Amino acid sequence: MNLAEIKETIYRADKSLTESLAQEAKTITEQYFGRTISLYAPLYLSNYCSSHCIYCGFSSHNKIKRSKLSGEEIHREMKAIAATGIEDILLLTGESYEATSLEYLKNAATIAKEYFSCVLLEVHPMETNEYQELFSIGADGVTIYQETYDRNRYKEVHLAGKKSDYDFRLGTPERAAKAGMRYISLGILLGLSDAASDLFELFNHLNYLEKNFPGIEYNLSFPRLRNIKGREFAKCDVDDETFVKIISLARINFPRVGITLSTREKPSLRDHLLGIGITRISAGSNTSVGGYEISKDSAQDPQFDIEDKRSVQEIIKSLKNNNFDPVFTSWRTIKNTI
Ligand code: SF4
Repeated sequence: MNLAEIKETIYRADKSLTESLAQEAKTITEQYFGRTISLYAPLYLSNYCSSHCIYCGFSSHNKIKRSKLSGEEIHREMKAIAATGIEDILLLTGESYEATSLEYLKNAATIAKEYFSCVLLEVHPMETNEYQELFSIGADGVTIYQETYDRNRYKEVHLAGKKSDYDFRLGTPERAAKAGMRYISLGILLGLSDAASDLFELFNHLNYLEKNFPGIEYNLSFPRLRNIKGREFAKCDVDDETFVKIISLARINFPRVGITLSTREKPSLRDHLLGIGITRISAGSNTSVGGYEISKDSAQDPQFDIEDKRSVQEIIKSLKNNNFDPVFTSWRTIKNTI
């Protein structure tokens, strides 16, 4: 699809168009994924960050309590998550190359492999050789969102720190692919810039990666801007109907690609989108450092507010009631017992 077609589809107020796109997306999703929905949990290892992104609760300019999990605390948090049945973990940090160094991340990934079969990283962008080191100790993939492909807007909202380097971030999926990562997730933060233009550029980016690095499992995600610490950064101008069209277009253009939906969205919308194109959801999420076990009873400073606060068990029940099959891992390493 060219940019004009995407704009025409996304911005035309026409409920029948939305319904027909959703129906087409639903048929394709069932054809390629059946009724399966993969579950994962995010684990925030640290909220130290040396970048200043004006939409994020972890920004270096926000006065929040900073912490990072020790090795023993990582074990405790992971044990609590694994006890819910989740087998895929996404390890997240703020972007501090000092607080969460490569060595720290390697240790966290090594511990994660004791509890989970699939370990994904949403951490600061790295060089190829660093991704290789993480891959060699068991990390399976990388999540890296460009947030917006509009260079001017990118500059306006990423004021300081490594994240303000647009090109280094843009080249990250390619470096991760060269390092051998088997899973790469891309995304845009809806509400930051013109959604249609960002969607067009995201599709181009994914087309480029699929052509040059085939065989990798690619995934897309479309988080919408959320309040941070109860404060609204900017109203997200992507309403629910436009959001449905964005998910549908992603599915129609990339039939085999996984699409993730986070707990930023309300339970009712999450449930509705499952039938349309979503194949992967977070469950029982907590977006604070130590929020599952270590500091579950204390006041927390999450990266953003979440809407779907259902437990893993409640989500499993809801999926089954709606005739979906929850899948607890997308990857299992073969253990050679001979
Ligand atoms: S978006 Fe990432 S890099 Fe930017 S302030 Fe938040 S945690 Fe730091």
